[in-house]
Amino acid sequence: MTQIFAYIPFNNGAAEDVALEFPSAAKKIDESASLTAVVVGSGADVDAVANEMTSVYSEVIKINQADFAYPNAEVIRKALVNVIPADAIFLVPHNTFGMDLAPGLSVKMDSSYAADIVDFEGIDGTALKAVRQELGGAVSTHVTIDIASGAVISIRPGSFAPVEGGAAGGSIIDKSGDAGDLSSKRKFLELVAAEVGDVDITKSDVLVSVGRGIEDEENIEIAQELAEAMKSVVSCSRPIVDAKWLEKSRQVGTSGQTVKPKVYMAMGISGSFQHMGGVKGNPFIVAVNKNPKAPIFQVADVGIVADILEFMPELTEAINDL
Ligand SMILES: Cc1cc2nc3c(=O)[nH]c(=O)nc-3n(C[C@H](O)[C@H](O)[C@H](O)COP(=O)(O)OP(=O)(O)OC[C@H]3O[C@@H](n4cnc5c(N)ncnc54)[C@H](O)[C@@H]3O)c2cc1C
Repeated sequence: MTQIFAYIPFNNGAAEDVALEFPSAAKKIDESASLTAVVVGSGADVDAVANEMTSVYSEVIKINQADFAYPNAEVIRKALVNVIPADAIFLVPHNTFGMDLAPGLSVKMDSSYAADIVDFEGIDGTALKAVRQELGGAVSTHVTIDIASGAVISIRPGSFAPVEGGAAGGSIIDKSGDAGDLSSKRKFLELVAAEVGDVDITKSDVLVSVGRGIEDEENIEIAQELAEAMKSVVSCSRPIVDAKWLEKSRQVGTSGQTVKPKVYMAMGISGSFQHMGGVKGNPFIVAVNKNPKAPIFQVADVGIVADILEFMPELTEAINDL
């Protein structure tokens, strides 16, 4: 029977959304596979997340050690090798931490590695068929992953439907004592809290999010007027922060804020996975982009091919006229 393990990322004692998406991914790999959650960390948060996961996974492995106080992929890899069977399929989130963890883990486990998978198409012998996106999401590639000696696979968050949690019924296996040597060449010095900005984009139900398509700093005002008309706030992609047109606290994405609005207006944003990785909670996505082939249209509920510099003022006017 195929054995699948899923690495559960969490923040402040709460599992990230992808924890609920791994079971759907596992089912698409093999309906009859066994699936185990793996929760690694330090302190009470690990126990809280492991308990939370028993309502989703029938089996949860927890590894609770002081050495995991910081998300040090080098140390976590060492522990996982001692706890996960070498021929298992190991799913990790394709986020900044997952990208750090997964390649080295596959080398240590001497197993296959596949990154940024968005779909599975079943197993043929020892070949697991999968779909990944390349060239910033412009191209879907169908690949096979040899799982004869196991595989480490990073899953793009948001690609699989989240499952509903049930009553807590799964069992927890404490493998904290099996982690082995956790010495590390990499040392964490400090965690720097994100700067507090003028607005908290994580609290808004509607976000007017601007990307490089806004073209000029002075055009940010156009988005701000639309946001005001929609009683919402302006967020942005990373190039806008890099250009210093908006504060870092307004950046959505894997190296920015995670947001869970009800409506996400993506204005001149291409839809990179680093950006969309910060858009959670399955919002209604309205994308406006002048390139009809922009990857954002693959995830948008409504896609509009238009110049945002013309579209946004017209929408603002139409709303203000209501
Ligand atoms: C480690 C790492 C972490 C990262 N973290 C983040 C992150 O947290 N958040 C983030 O956003 N990015 C992040 N990035 C960057 C990410 O890879 C992309 O480069 C970035 O998201 C692209 O931003 P964009 O969509 O605004 O720009 P582009 O990809 O340049 O897209 C601009 C879009 O605007 C459209 N456009 C241009 N002009 C107009 C117009 N007048 N009207 C309508 N449409 C127009 C274009 O067709 C294009 O689709 C990260 C990258 C790395 C390597």
